Amino acid sequence: MPVEPKSLHNVFTSEPYNQGMKSSAIVWFRRDLRLKDNPALSHAIDHHERVILVYIHAPDEEAPWQPGAATRWWLHYSLSSFQRSLTEHGGELILRSGDSLPNLISLCSESGAKDVYWNRLYDPALVNRDKAIKEELAAQGIKAHSYNGSLLREPWEVHKEDGTMYRVYTPFSKKYLQMSEIEAPLDSPQPLPAVDHKGVSLSLDHLALTPTIGWDKQFFSCWRPGESGAIDALQKFIEQALLDYRNGRDLPATDGVSRLSPHLHFGEISPRQVWHEVKFHAAKLEDEGEDDVQSRTLAYLRQLIWRDFAHHILFHLPHTATQPFNEKFSGFEWDDNQLLLEAWQRGQTGIPLVDAGMRQLWQTGWMHNRVRMLVASVLTKNGMVHWLEGARWFWDTLLDADLANNSMGWQWTAGCGVDAAPYFRIFSPARQGERFDPLGSYVKKWVPELAAIPAKYVHQPWTAPAKILEQSGITLGEHYPEPVVDLSASRKEALARFKRLKNP
Ligand SMILES: Cc1cc2nc3c(=O)[nH]c(=O)nc-3n(C[C@H](O)[C@H](O)[C@H](O)COP(=O)(O)OP(=O)(O)OC[C@H]3O[C@@H](n4cnc5c(N)ncnc54)[C@H](O)[C@@H]3O)c2cc1C
Repeated sequence: MPVEPKSLHNVFTSEPYNQGMKSSAIVWFRRDLRLKDNPALSHAIDHHERVILVYIHAPDEEAPWQPGAATRWWLHYSLSSFQRSLTEHGGELILRSGDSLPNLISLCSESGAKDVYWNRLYDPALVNRDKAIKEELAAQGIKAHSYNGSLLREPWEVHKEDGTMYRVYTPFSKKYLQMSEIEAPLDSPQPLPAVDHKGVSLSLDHLALTPTIGWDKQFFSCWRPGESGAIDALQKFIEQALLDYRNGRDLPATDGVSRLSPHLHFGEISPRQVWHEVKFHAAKLEDEGEDDVQSRTLAYLRQLIWRDFAHHILFHLPHTATQPFNEKFSGFEWDDNQLLLEAWQRGQTGIPLVDAGMRQLWQTGWMHNRVRMLVASVLTKNGMVHWLEGARWFWDTLLDADLANNSMGWQWTAGCGVDAAPYFRIFSPARQGERFDPLGSYVKKWVPELAAIPAKYVHQPWTAPAKILEQSGITLGEHYPEPVVDLSASRKEALARFKRLKNP
């Protein structure tokens, strides 16, 4: 039987083009709420005349790590921004909720689509869900097409010479930098194909993503969820802070970091876009005669590699979202210290840098990385509270809560993760404060009770002479708490427990 020339067929379906039916495909958006560098969207548009764009709210499928309150807030405004942007480009986003598979199947049958496109996610529960969905769709004659839209390189692309995964960051990043250049980002499709399938869509409010208490008031002045907010944040960072990132990244009182984390988590911008934009500017600055541009910008690009490393670890070792990477830690003697945990959550530990960080988190949904490491160290190493308690609080309150980054960050700080901080490295809040917030500006911003105390005492008000405290209007235990934990005694106790773990 003669084979029909391929050009007469849509390559992704068995329907010949000339049957009077337009070829349709579903683009299933998840954490890729953008038009630029969106491989699933671009490929669908390249191969089909009609694309049906859908977001399905299915928090149950993410269990046990369903989106927390802060990320639900971000998702609401990110979806709203994406809906606007699609409408401006002639498209329309259909919102659905409930299980993903039946929603996709019913959209396919409503629209006649035989192809579904999405960008891959790597959280363990979602990998399993997507695999099952791919198989179910195939059983119904629907083809699924998936792409890398959220990492520089996928977890299985980078491995050691013997084919095994990396467990240490430095050789992982070395390999990254030796491999071929990161793929260039795709342009945004122009224009979007016209919408002639009016799918039933829920209203955004129906998804009930925003909080009912007024806890999010300050979020609005700190953040602009959505693709244009992400692009503007990147440009601002490149212009104002990129070249000084090596130093600026450690100073929580300054604008030395990019604050791209929630935008990256929701895929409003891709790491490939960030990578290439930074490289483009670096080349321009080098041409203009700026010194040492390569290593100054590499300091920032390495953070994107850390992000991929976290995904590499979680993908290959899915149990590390809840179990220690270092199995020895399964036997660690954690304390059930509710009092300390609550004081920590409320930013009332009496340790100023910790309280500043925890209040920044509560009020703005974000905390500076240097302070994240400190608050995690104090909770797990001084308080000896299980790292999962801290990880769960971050999960609910961080706008950038991300399973891979959060699990790795907590395990690293607690000493039980990959490439972890050695057990004997217990941050001293006073020392961290003196090095990274020498004037106490960060502390004074978030802990206004300490606004009048001289910089010399701001990180350890309990060491200030009574007269200084009086002049600063502070009575410890009344205006500001006494430290909830004895930092020096708890440090010794933690070291003893770690030693017992090493040599039982
Ligand atoms: C205990 C703990 C918990 C954390 N939880 C999260 C989390 O839930 N979500 C999250 O995105 N990050 C987490 N981090 C990593 C880091 O603190 C944030 O990514 C960073 O502070 C975000 O701010 P930024 O975008 O200005 O970062 P920048 O310094 O501007 O870095 C740019 C990007 O690189 C990535 N990146 C930077 N540092 C890290 C890192 N250490 N690990 C992985 N990726 C990194 C992020 O995507 C970040 O947006 C955690 C760190 C610790 C110590």
